[in-house]
Order: sequence, then structure tokens, then C-alpha cells
Amino acid sequence: MNIVMIASECAPVAKVGGLGDVIYGLSRELALRGNTVEVILPKYDCMQHNHIQDLTISFQDLWVPWNNGAIRCTVWSGEVLGLRCHFIESHSQEHFFNRGGFYGYPDEAMRFAFFSKASLEFLLKTEKRPDIIHCHDWQAALVPVLLYEVYQQAMPHQRVCYTIHNFRHQGIVGADILTATGLNRPEYYVQPEKLRDDFNPHALNLMKGAIVYSNFITTVSPQHAWEVRNTEQSYGLGNTLHAHQNKFSGVLNGLDYEVWNPNIDPLIPAHYSVDNLQPKYENKRILREQLLLRKDFKPIIAYVGRLDAQKGVHLIRHGLFYALWNNAQFVLLGSSPERGINDYFWHLKHYLNDNPDCHLEIGFNEELAHLIYAGADMLIVPSIYEPCGLTQMIGLRYGTVPIVRPVGGLADTVFDRDNSDKPFHERNGYIFQQDNYAGLESAMSRAIGLWHDYPDDFHKLIDNGMRADHSWNISGQHYLNIYEYIKYK
Ligand code: ADP
Repeated sequence: MNIVMIASECAPVAKVGGLGDVIYGLSRELALRGNTVEVILPKYDCMQHNHIQDLTISFQDLWVPWNNGAIRCTVWSGEVLGLRCHFIESHSQEHFFNRGGFYGYPDEAMRFAFFSKASLEFLLKTEKRPDIIHCHDWQAALVPVLLYEVYQQAMPHQRVCYTIHNFRHQGIVGADILTATGLNRPEYYVQPEKLRDDFNPHALNLMKGAIVYSNFITTVSPQHAWEVRNTEQSYGLGNTLHAHQNKFSGVLNGLDYEVWNPNIDPLIPAHYSVDNLQPKYENKRILREQLLLRKDFKPIIAYVGRLDAQKGVHLIRHGLFYALWNNAQFVLLGSSPERGINDYFWHLKHYLNDNPDCHLEIGFNEELAHLIYAGADMLIVPSIYEPCGLTQMIGLRYGTVPIVRPVGGLADTVFDRDNSDKPFHERNGYIFQQDNYAGLESAMSRAIGLWHDYPDDFHKLIDNGMRADHSWNISGQHYLNIYEYIKYK
């Protein structure tokens, strides 16, 4: 099958969070199964260009219709760890993708509406006619709308699968986006059964548009697919999902086992596996050395991830202090686009600067992330909202026992050692239901207690986690089934 992914991230060239990992991991899995997979991305000036091989111009003057005129683009193509990627560079006055960062600009909707339009123009002009166009998140949400309403004649056979990685960001925009992209009948699109936002009659909701227009919609875990239909976690899209539930399902994200494999990971000093765990403790030693933690008989508990309200920032902070009060060490790696949260963690870092049992690293650091997964004993993921979550799966893969709140994919992947309907060999971590300090403490105290008092039982948990399969193997097949289904429907 011929598949084109359209997304705003792809690891390792352009990665902010899990979306980047998923685009690369899923694409690679599909390619390994004999499909032709290409990825279309914006050409950000801040990309990690060193990860692209043979980057050359593949389309010199791509004129993209825009606002009654057209904007010239250059399309660059190259290989990212063996995956064919196309990067759209726009020569607009607004310098859409030359901002020094990936996200966080006031004209965000226009930037990615342009990207969606340019991606389709690229397919049109290069005569690429994939069987499946797989779009991701609000940034690529206009693709199915434009495909059906503008490009239908030229591309009548292309089918769209649309994956929602995060319902919290939907692309709520003004109607000016319609004129810019050539969707010229506002009265037609600003209808409740089309793009009109359910809570603001004057606004368009791009994610809603994608749900309406795509041939199939997925979100990133079965539990989250249930949550968004039955709780407020769809952030207002519940009715739309119900109306389209026959083409909606949850497919659990996988991990790319080439990238996340402690036995071959080039970013960690000592390689290990489930049958040879000892070198993990060499990573722990080096992690302590690198972060100036004291050598002591204590577990290291870690947090790696964005510092965002959805991740339970207050619980992360509390987990840090609880670890310090209870015979454990704590390492944090994270950053936030929100100034207030970032400042808060900088403040905390200064406050704890002389504490030999903890280290806070504020920023994005792929290499340190790998060392933390390899060197820590436990990982906390106290999310309030989590569509899937990759860090707990990475933790499991690296023998770092996850302590999580069971929302979204966390509920599908982590099973409590003491309270679960799973058999013992599938129990792999600790969970707590309540999003409060008492809940977190109950799980952390059990985990720290087991580590100190019953090391053999703790090893059994590590073993269970490392033996489970969280690769793309199963989910890759799920996506292929969906593609087949919509291709011949
Ligand atoms: P989300 O997509 O909500 O950010 P996920 O758990 O799905 O969360 O994915 C997070 C991914 O981003 C993981 O690969 C994690 O290691 C990585 N990551 C997050 N923050 C950082 C950071 N500050 N430095 C390095 N890697 C990070």
C-alpha cells in the first residue's frame, strides 16, 4: 500500500513530544511490512538537520494558492533514519516555519492551515496518489476537508485516516481561514454538522472538520476512545464523535523498538536486557555521577516529560518531595512552553540546588532522557489527562517501574502489582486513582517499600514489564486493517 503521513512532528528531526515518536515509529513499522511510506512535514528552521540524509530540493517552485494569490514554496526531500520525508519550506512574508521554535505563535492556525494546503498541492503537482493519507492532530486537520472539497476531482480515490493524539488542542479559528485556503463558501462550512464549533457559533473547529470529513478516525488508546465519548475528556467533541462513532476507534500507540531498546541504545553507556539486568545499575551509577547525586542505598524515581497541567504538575512536585522524605532520590527532566510553570520549576531547582538526593533539569534533552530511563528505578506519570503516554511504555521497556494514574493509555499498559484483575505475570507497576496527594503517596509508598524490603519481588515487576510487547507489531497491523477497510469501502 502507498501511504503518506502528514504531521507537524517526526522524531528525531522535529520532535516536541510523543507525536514525533509515533509518526516515526508507525511509519517505520508500516514500511517494514512492505508498504511505501512517505512523511510530509514543515521545514522548520529549528529542526535537527543532522538527522536528515541526502537532503535535496525535490520541487523548486511549488506555488500554493493562498488568500486570492499564491505563496512560493520549495520542497526538500531526504531520508530520516531510512524514512522518506518531504519538508515544505514556505517563502511567505510571514516566515511560517522560520520562527526558531515549533509551536507557540499567535498565527498558529494560519501556519498549519498553510502547511495542510501546501501538502495537498505537493501531492497534486508531483502526481503522488497514495492509497491512504494519514493525518495527525489539529495541525493537519484541514487536509481531509480540503481533499474532499477542493481536490476531489484530481484525487478521487485517496482515503483519509485521521488520528487524534490530543483533544485539548483542536484548532478553534475564525472564518478567515476559509478564504485563505480557498474554501470559499463560509455559509456552507459554518454549519453545525460541518466545521462550526459546538460552543462558539462564530468559530470554526478544525478537529471537528477532520472528524466529519475523514474516512476513519482513531485516537491513541482504547481507554481514551472510551473516555472521549463518555466523559468531558473530548473537550467538547463528544457529540461529534457520537455522530461519527461507526468510523472511530482507539489504537494503542507502540514504541519503536529500534530506538527504545536498552540492549542497543547508543545513547546509554551500559547495555542490558531482561536476561542480563546487571548493567542497568552501571547506568544508575553514571546517572548519579552526571547529575551529582550522592551514592546511597536508595531507589531513583524519575519524571520525564512536558511540564503541562495535563501531566499533573502539582503531583509531580509533590512526588519529588515525597521521594526525598521517604528514602528515595528524584530526577526530573522536563520543560514547559508556559512561562509560569517553567519559572516555577526553575525556582524549585534553585531551592533544591544543594540537595544531594535530587536533580531538576529544565529543558529538552534526548540523550539525558535515555540515560534517565536506563538509570532510574521507577518513573512517575501522575497525569490528569493522557491520551496514550509513551513514557510509561519506555519505562517498562527499560526496567523502570511505572507509577501512574490510570487514564487513557496508562490504564491500557500499566497494571497494579497489588490490585489488578490481571494475572501476576502481567502486573508491572503501581497505579492510583485519585488525582490528589494521598493517592500518589499510596502508590509511591508501596513502590518504595517493595524496593527496600523485597528486592526479589521488585525484580519480578521489572521482569514482567520488560517481557511485555509494546512495539508497533500489533498496532501496526491494526492500522493496516483500518487502511484496507477504508480503501475498499
Ligand atoms: P506527550 O506526547 O504528551 O508529550 P508522551 O508520553 O506521549 O507525552 O511522549 C513524550 C515523549 O517525549 C517521550 O519520548 C519522552 O521521552 C519525550 N520527552 C518529553 N519531554 C522531554 C524532555 N524534556 N527531554 C527529552 N525528551 C522528552
